Formats: sequence, C-alpha cells, structure tokens
Amino acid sequence: MGKSSKDKRDIYYRLAKEQGWRARSAFKLLQIQEKIDIFRDVKRVVDLCAAPGSWSQVLSKTIYEPCKDDPSIRIIAVDLQPMAPLEGVMQLQGDITDRSTADNIIAHLDGQLSDLVVCDGAPDVVGLLDFDEYVQHQLVLSALDLTSRILKSGGTMVAKVFRGKRIGKLCADLKLFFPEVVIAKPKCSRDSSLEAFVVCQNYVPLPEFTSSSDNLLDYLAEKNPARHLSENLYPEVPFLVCGEEGAFDSDRTYPLNLTEGKSEGQKEYEYKAPVQPPINPPYKEAQKMRKDKTLFQPKLPIQL
Ligand code: SAM
Repeated sequence: MGKSSKDKRDIYYRLAKEQGWRARSAFKLLQIQEKIDIFRDVKRVVDLCAAPGSWSQVLSKTIYEPCKDDPSIRIIAVDLQPMAPLEGVMQLQGDITDRSTADNIIAHLDGQLSDLVVCDGAPDVVGLLDFDEYVQHQLVLSALDLTSRILKSGGTMVAKVFRGKRIGKLCADLKLFFPEVVIAKPKCSRDSSLEAFVVCQNYVPLPEFTSSSDNLLDYLAEKNPARHLSENLYPEVPFLVCGEEGAFDSDRTYPLNLTEGKSEGQKEYEYKAPVQPPINPPYKEAQKMRKDKTLFQPKLPIQL
C-alpha cells in the first residue's frame, strides 16, 4: 500500500495534516463546537486523554491564543502517554482512573474550578462490541468521577462514548449530575462507528456526593433509580449531528487532488507526513519485539 492510500481513504486524516492538526480527532471537537458552542466564556479547560494533542491544539488556538495575556486562562492536558509541548497547554502524565491524577490536576488549577472538561479517552478496543462498550463506559464514569471534583457549578463535560446497548444507562447516570445531556455525532466520525460524544451541560454538584470519599459506582448503584428501569424506559436523550451543511462524508473516498473548497483538480496533490507522530506509543515495544522475533504469537485457533 502506498503512502497516499490512507490520504485517499480518509479525507479528514488528509485535511488534518494539511491544516496542521496532530490528529483527525481535531475535527470532532471543532464540529461539536460549531453546533453547541461549548467554548463560550470558557477560561479553564481540562483535556483528559489528550495525546497526541489535537484537541489541546484546538483549545490552545481558540481559548489561549486570543487572550494570551489573561492569567486566568488555564488549559491542562492529561494522558497516560507523553505528548509533545503545545503553547498555552500544561501537560500532566497520568491515569485518569487513578485518584492521584485528580489531586495533581486540582493542584495545577490553583484553587479554581474548571469551566469545561473534555475527554476523548479510548482504551484499546478488542473488537467485541459489548466488551468494548463496557470498558469505554467505565472510562467515562472515571472521567465523571474526576469531573465532579474539578468542574464548576454550571460547567460542561464532553466525553467520547460508544452507542451500544448500555448508552441509555450511562446517560441516566450522567443526568444525575447534568440536567442537559445530548449525544453528538460529528460528521467526521464514521457512520459505521459506534463512536459519539455526550455533551453534558449545566453541572449541578450533588451535595450528598463527595467524590473524594464516596465511590461513584456504589453511589450510582444506590442512588440512581433509573439504573433499575428496563432499558426502554431510560430517559430520552436528544441526538445531534454536528458539522456544517455539506461537510465531507467520513465514510466516502475522495480524489486526492480535491481541495478544501471541494472542487476537484484545483491543486496538485502532495503527500504530507503526520504533523506530530506519537512520542513513545505503547505499540513501539511490540514493533521492536516483532522485529527481533521475540514477540509471542499464538498458533490459531487457540485450544482451551
Ligand atoms: N483527543 C486526542 C487528540 O485529539 O489527539 C486523541 C485521544 S486518543 C483517541 C485516546 C487517548 O486516551 C490515548 O492517548 C490514550 O493514551 C488515552 N487514555 C486511555 N486510557 C487512559 C487513562 N486511563 N488515563 C489517561 N489516558 C488514557
């Protein structure tokens, strides 16, 4: 396969490189913002699961750059993986399921609460839909737990979810803390993918829940009556498609010489390398082991 084949198959991957974004995910946040205006009056943001950093780039460009001299602007990016530096973004390496990560974020918020928390976190998927959805939603609940410690009253949380059979239950949990929850599907996120984003607004801290001492899962199991409803009785959550009229269709293949204005052939196609390859990705060791022939490869099918 040639270098250009991914460019051809994935218009948003190509556009991201042309426009200087570290990942095509940047368009997901931009398209959500276009539709819901989540950045309005936002000065402090925490970007959970941020590497390689395209959402942080969007935050840096739209929130930090226009008000560089405003000392109240604070953008904190957190990930398990290291991330190349970005102007106006403070980086913390840590696991969002670990309580000490929340303590570290709080220490860097200098006694203030955040206006917005975004989380594009994704564990490695194994391809079993039910299992992947379950693990994804556990990560969202960890993000919610952390958010309950750092978000100001009235604030917004955005998190990646999978729209599987448990999405109603997850939204019912989110609605305990946020009266307004919508499911947003940016046009750059493939229709064929279960991926979507919950946009949760108007955070109401619950006086009886103290994240630092209570366990969120125990709390939800005990206190959320919606958890005991059958799935078809979960509260309805609006579904919003985000992205401009006529935005590129992420499931289509486009010619390589298509320009952003979408007229074909106005510009010579030129291959561009990714803006910022991951610094120390977890697959690096596996690649080395495969090269050295030390990677264990089971003989399939596995006999149990
Ligand atoms: N929003 C990012 C961007 O625009 O560049 C892309 C995020 S990528 C899809 C998912 C990230 O989630 C990975 O970098 C991964 O390391 C991170 N992640 C997964 N589980 C995590 C955890 N428990 N704590 C912190 N980061 C996590």
